[in-house]
Amino acid sequence: MAKLTFLGAAGCVTGSKFLVEASGKRLLVDAGLFQGNKELRQRNWDALPVDPATIDCVVLTHAHIDHTGYLPRLIHDGFRGPIFANAATRDLCTVLLPDSARLQEEDAEHAAYKGYSKHKTPLPLYTVEEAQQALAQIHVIPAAQPFRVSPEFTLRQSGAGHILGSSSIHLTVTENGRAQTILFSGDIGRYDQPILHDPENPPAADYLLCESTYGDREHPAGDPHAGLVDAVTRVTRRGGSLVIPAFAVGRTQTLLYVLRQLEDWQRIPALPVYVDSPMAIHVTQFYLRHRAEHDREFLRDAKNGDALSTRQLRVTRSVEESKNINKVSDPCVIISASGMATGGRVLHHLARRLPDSRNAVLLAGFQAEGSRGRNLLEGAKHLRIHGEDVPVKAEVVHLNQFSAHAGKCELLRWLAAMPAPPKKTFLVHGEPSGSAALRGTLQEKLGWSNVSVARHEDSVEL
Ligand SMILES: [Zn+2]
Repeated sequence: MAKLTFLGAAGCVTGSKFLVEASGKRLLVDAGLFQGNKELRQRNWDALPVDPATIDCVVLTHAHIDHTGYLPRLIHDGFRGPIFANAATRDLCTVLLPDSARLQEEDAEHAAYKGYSKHKTPLPLYTVEEAQQALAQIHVIPAAQPFRVSPEFTLRQSGAGHILGSSSIHLTVTENGRAQTILFSGDIGRYDQPILHDPENPPAADYLLCESTYGDREHPAGDPHAGLVDAVTRVTRRGGSLVIPAFAVGRTQTLLYVLRQLEDWQRIPALPVYVDSPMAIHVTQFYLRHRAEHDREFLRDAKNGDALSTRQLRVTRSVEESKNINKVSDPCVIISASGMATGGRVLHHLARRLPDSRNAVLLAGFQAEGSRGRNLLEGAKHLRIHGEDVPVKAEVVHLNQFSAHAGKCELLRWLAAMPAPPKKTFLVHGEPSGSAALRGTLQEKLGWSNVSVARHEDSVEL
């Protein structure tokens, strides 16, 4: 009998890994890294319950590290099969996986230096070389056509509208002449968001694994354009600058697109906009290249030039160029990673700009507990950056409308579009509260009775 096992993102948001077995063949959907607290991160070091050398192939829903960041470790542990992904996801992985490996190597070096590891010479979870090996094993598959992996497995992707290349995977599993279908939602994006298509309606399936990140939450209503206009206007009037910590994938491109629109509509002045993140610059090129992913509005805007380029865009690649931004005293916008100010170049800009009340920091999205972004939101008077206490005099603005995750209503809209209720639904990618809330909503609003919250390392016979 075919079997499905939850090896990650069950009872938590990260570590996405779902193993499907049929006729002795093993296919893994996503190979994500666990992120968050220490207990979760420890799981990345635990051996998988199946030998990676016995997994035949991996299929990716999208490039985010909590869906792909375990691939180099899988290779470290003996996986040699193909990794199937569409071209956009492959492109993003070429930037994200080596970066993740560099962070792992830095962590190991840091542990060695501080002497807090129980190992004499702490090793990284994986190396840049293993990340490169993972990239070499990626096989690009067409985004919109069925793809036959083997007699046991055929898959088809549908757009999920979350980030570039993101898709849901519809898998047909055949064993002893009996075919069954499983739909893996991946991460579902939002409707009517800039640049990308809306999530496609899901096809019918016998089994459904659905994400539930925002199963208990809605995004705040309101026009993100208006919030951005207000922030830019206030800062310009004061002669200050606006620092925006932003993720390199998705958030930076959305901000560039919206800033460009606002300039075109003459709702904001065309200020110098610095994109200070080599990764974001790279990723922006991928966003421009994959035209099939663009929605109609974006294509229309792209006819009038580069829709992700503001009038006075300055991209800075080298450290020297990045440092030179410190000398800029005229009003400007600085977009830099990381998105929650946990690390990256944005820290230099915060250290330079926070002590001046003419400036503002715009936090565009969720800020996790314990991050500097969260501390700013909670009104911290000082921020610890590079060993110094930096006084916070700048204005702090929060705009939460730019999320790339479907809120509760949007998840429900996507699920309600299924042609028929699945035989069984498993809720994954959620904190227990989010998954439980979505389960209740599905029973109440759609009358789906066979819904359960997936549990880590549980197996289900199909
Ligand atoms: Zn994601």
